[in-house]
Amino acid sequence: MPPTKKATLTLWILAALLGGLIFGIVGHAVFPEAVNEILIKWILKPTGDVFLRAITMLVVPIVFVSLVYGAASIGDPAKLGRVGLRVMLIYLATTALAVTMALFIAEVIVRPGTGITLPTDAAFTPKDAPFIMDVFVDMVPKNPFQAMVEGNMLQVIFFALLLGIALAQLGAKAEPALRLAEISNDVLMRVVEIIIWLAVPGVFALIAKVMLEQGLGVLLPLLAYVLTLSGALLLQLALVYPLILYLFTRLSPLQFFKNHIPVMTVAFSTSSSNATLPVSIDVAERRQGVSKGIASFALPLGATINMDGTAIMQGVATAFIAQVYGIELSFTQLVTVVVTAALASVGTAGVPGVGLITLSMVLMSVKLPVEGIALIIGVDRLLDMARTVVNVTGDAATAVIVSKMENELDVEEFYAENAGTD
Ligand code: ASP
Repeated sequence: MPPTKKATLTLWILAALLGGLIFGIVGHAVFPEAVNEILIKWILKPTGDVFLRAITMLVVPIVFVSLVYGAASIGDPAKLGRVGLRVMLIYLATTALAVTMALFIAEVIVRPGTGITLPTDAAFTPKDAPFIMDVFVDMVPKNPFQAMVEGNMLQVIFFALLLGIALAQLGAKAEPALRLAEISNDVLMRVVEIIIWLAVPGVFALIAKVMLEQGLGVLLPLLAYVLTLSGALLLQLALVYPLILYLFTRLSPLQFFKNHIPVMTVAFSTSSSNATLPVSIDVAERRQGVSKGIASFALPLGATINMDGTAIMQGVATAFIAQVYGIELSFTQLVTVVVTAALASVGTAGVPGVGLITLSMVLMSVKLPVEGIALIIGVDRLLDMARTVVNVTGDAATAVIVSKMENELDVEEFYAENAGTD
């Protein structure tokens, strides 16, 4: 691949994002609805779906192969334990911090729900919220193949990690299997390299479709909620991550974001951490300089369990709903929200819209009416795009930090402006 690939791909994807945004917003305002319908049906939906299906197709194989390889190649149980502990600690700490900050902003500073009267037509039929312990019990698959077919990521992760650990313990005897995992990993990443170019028309089509359908007008009635949530997400993205990254690694946060742009763009247009995973791993390895072992281990795990953006949404949404219903949350209730939102984000699958479903767990934990979700459902499609960007950025920052801590970060690659993507 030509040496300027890093910059070229980034620019193309960014152009597609901006182009799609402008086209969709303008189109929603000026084109007749019939034209928009035809555009969506014949061009935008098929184009977007092809891209989405192509990257989604890779998710289960990549999660499985890369975790087996990641765990096995880290090898030494002490090192695996240390890396695992660091990754999990950063994931948990950033999530808890994120939801605490979100609650502070929404409860103390802005209070977006005060003054809003409860609409009488707020229709939402709550499903039974899953019991929180089930999240943990369900991690263990009864049948790993079924878990793969159903795309149950936590179960696939559980099985893959065990296999990887066993591979490492068998040592020389299992060498061919480790090689197989490594080669399969490389092959899958090569496929990502090929289909990543579909992101250019794909991102354009996905964004343009959402904007043509929804416009930005849907955000207006709930502007206070939208702005509070966007502000909290932005704070996490532009302040918390850069700060943590710099404190732990002394690397330039600006360069981190430069390398990371394709991941953010794909996350924004797909609203899915899972679908973004192939791009996340590719960018971490080839642009951020994260070692293969750590990228393969930390990112699939993060895409599934680390969702700081979702936790922020759940914090702001809980405060908002409580305020609209005129319910004052006590300190104990706020702490309960922090804990359940962190757990709920572990249980949230990295696909569009699920954060809103697991929000019911958080609301129930503090006895708020689950029907309150109806208040925010209309704006959630657009906000999901933004929180997914935060979700995947937390994973990427953690992978860079832990790789640097383990002395496994290729700093030259990290700073290389013209490095290829292969
Ligand atoms: N769409 C989010 C993600 O995939 C999950 C959610 O909050 O709905 O990361």
